[in-house]
Amino acid sequence: MKIFLATGNKHKIEEITAIFKNVKNIEILSIKDGIDIPEVVEDGDTFEANSAKKALEIAKYTGMITIADDSGLCVDALGGAPGVYSARYSGEHATDDSNNKKLIKELQGKENRKAHFVSVVTLGKPDGRSYSFRGEVPGEIIDEPRGDKGFGYDPHFFVAEYGKTLAEMPDVKNLISHRANALKKLEAELESILKD
Ligand code: IMP
Repeated sequence: MKIFLATGNKHKIEEITAIFKNVKNIEILSIKDGIDIPEVVEDGDTFEANSAKKALEIAKYTGMITIADDSGLCVDALGGAPGVYSARYSGEHATDDSNNKKLIKELQGKENRKAHFVSVVTLGKPDGRSYSFRGEVPGEIIDEPRGDKGFGYDPHFFVAEYGKTLAEMPDVKNLISHRANALKKLEAELESILKD
């Protein structure tokens, strides 16, 4: 069974492919296989809305069963921001670096550093049906970046249980991350969804 991964983010492709590596009878395809996809406008107010929109638009476009992920960082002291705006937190031409700088600036003088990542993974079918799963991982934001693996806010996202940021432990990240947790839920239902 071929499943298309609807994302242009090469880090997400690597992570999702690694997490799905041991799932039998599934071949993951993406833009890395030379299949170009149109950009989907993420104009929803929730991770669920954006994730389902991406999965269904691209499933319709490719004619393939498609998985999309909409994800972001939610920081308690910032009322849940940047949330669904994580990718463009510092403006239209945001980079990971400019987003991280803005995050640390907004948190200056704030003691509560609790945060969590959210990922909503949706499997969309070309006929318009979709199945969504939410995963989260808790952590805290540290001012000084640590580690050079991963992407986005990873160097500032510290997981106390491991004493490391997600950017310092890619293998562990693929086991405990928001994306891994959402994909585990999808995997548990995958067989019945594919039969549906
Ligand atoms: P999306 O492509 O709309 O889902 O945007 C996700 C954004 O949230 C990314 O550009 C990152 O800034 C952030 N993000 C999502 N997942 C992760 C992660 O696993 N690590 C670090 N940042 C992430």
